[in-house]
Amino acid sequence: MLTEDNYYDNDNHWKYMSVSQFKDFMSCEAKAMAKLNKAIPKENTEAFLVGNYVHSAFENEKSHETFLTNHESDMLTKAGKIDCLNVEEGYFVDLKTTADIGKRYFSPRYRKWVSFVEEYGYVLQMAIYKILLGEKYNKEFTPYIYAVSKQDPPNVQAIDFINARFTHELEYVEQNIEHILKVKFGEQIPTPCGSCDYCRANKVITGFIEVEELIDKENINGNNKS
Ligand SMILES: [Zn+2]
Repeated sequence: MLTEDNYYDNDNHWKYMSVSQFKDFMSCEAKAMAKLNKAIPKENTEAFLVGNYVHSAFENEKSHETFLTNHESDMLTKAGKIDCLNVEEGYFVDLKTTADIGKRYFSPRYRKWVSFVEEYGYVLQMAIYKILLGEKYNKEFTPYIYAVSKQDPPNVQAIDFINARFTHELEYVEQNIEHILKVKFGEQIPTPCGSCDYCRANKVITGFIEVEELIDKENINGNNKS
């Protein structure tokens, strides 16, 4: 059983898939596998069992229910990590610290500039919390983020979400989870992103690229992750 004590054991990184592990695989499959194989501990304490949950949910209704029954207490131990949960009123608030609340990031995944909330996968995290709490208490929950910047003095902002964001995130997991699980369990070869610290440390030059291609990430990586 997954508990606070064994949550960071490497065994569990093989058995379960957290939101942060899912994010690791989406940013660089090669680095994610290296992390798993070297038992590098995760730093994100807000990790969640997204893979198992979503995967079983989409297989069929029965496996979904079995999974929820078996893991309910584990998942809700993690959901206790939510900073403020109001079951009666049907909402929860998660506190997030970030460098600058208004900072924008260019996201290859969204193919546009995004906020820190999208960049750090918090929409997906809120979507999973929302589903799990909904299952547990049989009611609709509204997620909020209370953001605090690391500036001096800090900026603060209360943030809500339109529902379409959650649908979009869950579809994204659904589209990618099968491939990620195949990579994780050795059925498919991990694709290097070509630009993270792991890939830079292990890079071997195999040819030239033209100047124009320098700012086209896919050409530098030599992969076609379409
Ligand atoms: Zn990489």
